[in-house]
Amino acid sequence: AKARGRNGYRFYAPSMSGDGALRLRLESLLRRSIEKNEIRLAFQPQVEIDSKRLIGVEALVRWHNAELGEVPPARLIPVAEDTGFINQLGNWVLVEACRQMVRWEQEGLYVPKIAVNLSVRQFERGCIAALVADVLRETGLEPRRLQLEVTESVIMHTSDALALVNDLHAIGVGLAIDDFGTGYSSLAYLKQLPVETLKIDRSFIKDIAADADDEAIVVAITQLGKSMNLSVIAEGVENEEQAAFLLRHGCNRAQGYLYGRPVPAAELLKQWRQMADE
Ligand code: C2E
Ligand code: CA
Ligand code: CA
Ligand code: CA
Repeated sequence: AKARGRNGYRFYAPSMSGDGALRLRLESLLRRSIEKNEIRLAFQPQVEIDSKRLIGVEALVRWHNAELGEVPPARLIPVAEDTGFINQLGNWVLVEACRQMVRWEQEGLYVPKIAVNLSVRQFERGCIAALVADVLRETGLEPRRLQLEVTESVIMHTSDALALVNDLHAIGVGLAIDDFGTGYSSLAYLKQLPVETLKIDRSFIKDIAADADDEAIVVAITQLGKSMNLSVIAEGVENEEQAAFLLRHGCNRAQGYLYGRPVPAAELLKQWRQMADE
């Protein structure tokens, strides 16, 4: 365990991030990660603050490799994007997330919605709507129960984003703008896009009760969402004080450690079926 920890440290040290040999090792291990069953999904609850009802979950990728240990998505996604492996990984995540929704239902837990992250490489391939439609058909999940999350920069960096988003909207899946407020989004663009949800970035939530600027930003995004008829959800809600602030300012949806960490599917079932029984 110690050796693995040391490897982990060596690998994650920022000064080593440009290390060619380590990078190649990661790439080659990652390429085989799916077939070797090393990739899993974790699911984090999204709740309505006042009722504490489960309104959805976000699917988050997890990679455990014998040699590297647990590799966080912030490390593996950029590598997957650079090598093109992200398309294979992204498909796996999409299929697995949709399948899981059907499984939970068979096990007695109805999760209203699942949110799946899309990277820019998946988005800019242009055939994303056709691919998503195939997955929905194969898994039997209703389109409105799938929400795709993209960041502002994904939209701004994709030349035909409007057409792609319209295609997704046409097959009935929802779109969420992830980490909202951190990128350079054009409000004019937002107006044209059939967006369902704005996710207020965690960085604005962290100090809402103490920082007047963060407070103003959160209030502004909530207002913007309201006036544009979008649902707004706050990310990274860790304590009751933040939740109370959000509720007071008209944001009744949250995701964060206060309501649950990302957990394996079986764990989410256990936690939320219990709640439903209480
Ligand atoms: P994200 O989409 O913004 O996901 C939310 C991240 O915040 C997750 O980190 C989650 O564990 C973390 N988080 C949730 N609640 C709290 C909280 O209350 N406090 C704090 N401090 N953190 C919280 P994670 O799982 O490490 O994922 C990091 C990023 O990696 C994600 O950020 C997303 O951009 C990317 N990612 C994860 N899974 C996928 C995937 O399947 N596909 C793609 N393309 N990207 C993914
Ligand atoms: Ca996300
Ligand atoms: Ca986010
Ligand atoms: Ca974030």
